Amino acid sequence: MMFRVLPFAALVALSACAFRHDPPALPPVTRPAPVTTTAVPSTERAPVTILISIDGFRPDYLDRGVTPQLSHLAATGVSAAMRPSFPSKTFPNHWTLVTGLVPDRHGVTANNMEDAARPGEKFTMATDDPFWWNTAEPIWVTAERAGIRTGTMFWPGSSVAWGATRAKDWPHETTGGTRPHDWQQYGEAVDDRQRVDGIIDWLRRPAVTRPGFLTLYFDEVDTAGHQFGPADPRTLQAVAKADAAIGRLVAELATLGQPANLVIVSDHGMAPTDSRRTIALDTIVSATDARIVDTGPYATLEPLPGRDAAVAAALLRPHPHMQCWRKGQLPARFRYGGNPRIPAFLCLADDSPGGAWEIASTAPTKQVSDGAHGFDNDAPDMRALFVANGPAFRAGKRLATFDNVDVAPLLRDLLGLPAGRGLDGSDRAFHGVLIAGPQRRTLPNAAG
Ligand SMILES: [Zn+2]
Repeated sequence: MMFRVLPFAALVALSACAFRHDPPALPPVTRPAPVTTTAVPSTERAPVTILISIDGFRPDYLDRGVTPQLSHLAATGVSAAMRPSFPSKTFPNHWTLVTGLVPDRHGVTANNMEDAARPGEKFTMATDDPFWWNTAEPIWVTAERAGIRTGTMFWPGSSVAWGATRAKDWPHETTGGTRPHDWQQYGEAVDDRQRVDGIIDWLRRPAVTRPGFLTLYFDEVDTAGHQFGPADPRTLQAVAKADAAIGRLVAELATLGQPANLVIVSDHGMAPTDSRRTIALDTIVSATDARIVDTGPYATLEPLPGRDAAVAAALLRPHPHMQCWRKGQLPARFRYGGNPRIPAFLCLADDSPGGAWEIASTAPTKQVSDGAHGFDNDAPDMRALFVANGPAFRAGKRLATFDNVDVAPLLRDLLGLPAGRGLDGSDRAFHGVLIAGPQRRTLPNAAG
């Protein structure tokens, strides 16, 4: 993944974790630990809600025989193949999961963005300027406002001082804003064990300073899926490693006697791609007519001054393996195209059973088989993981596919937060799988 690298000072601050430098080994497939998250008496510790993202985890990875821990949590909890939001990219979907809004409305419309209000600036996955994030309030801010301490062991946007403005000496200072009580600057070098240890350490605190909501994020399944494709044994090794990390978390929670409602998700799936299935934009639209903003499973383009008609003529006709639209004319089911940050034209490559296609600026010069996401959010390859397990959930429930805008309303139920107004999702999908209705608290100065 491509967030900012963790500075050394922040690494030192990463609790008492030991740093391991062993080469990563495929963990043995062991019998799942008993799911003590439901068995531990909760008289001393209130349940904590832990939102876990395993980036790029396809739900059918649970059927490959390498996920004893996750498969057990699914079998004894609630599971589904979840539909991501369009575009099926990392940052837009992680922000949807914690806001309950589609990317068109929450403002993180792509992994790479421009905004006319900030000419010359670009949003990348390392950008923590609140300007790009401030449109929609993430659940950890809502929880903090309700008096629930929160901690984030990585999540896109969690190191942003949400609601802040840039101070004079930006990037060193912001004015105002809310962060989780505990948060860490993203660092890929922080391994799974350290990530799990980090949140377990926060849970060792006395009740008064112990978080009630946590996030945890694992990147390795996505990284392997991109590099090798979803069917490759090396991707399955990464899947097994993430599964072992979940198993370790469950075991550590049990040792601590900490009941937990685990909500384990991914942001999108992964499709097999191959450079021999590439659409080269330079054969379709001239560089003197349009500027390419993004390429990949979908491409976005901005016409150069006076060249709109030429770009429309080139793009808005049938193309093999690709379809293009003006941003305002995308099919309604994408719920995408109204935000000013979305460029004027969008082209989407096919993710068909014969293999997914990709859009590039020019034809590739060497052949590679790998994986990608960003396709039609309703494509089966793009389905995302959903597993929930803990004292709030019924056992052994399989849900029909639902949209990932519904996860934030579920989290609000688990935390007892107000239902939230104007969200794109709802908790309807979970009515049959929650043991009790939410005990909602009221928010001071609540917008809800
Ligand atoms: Zn991702």
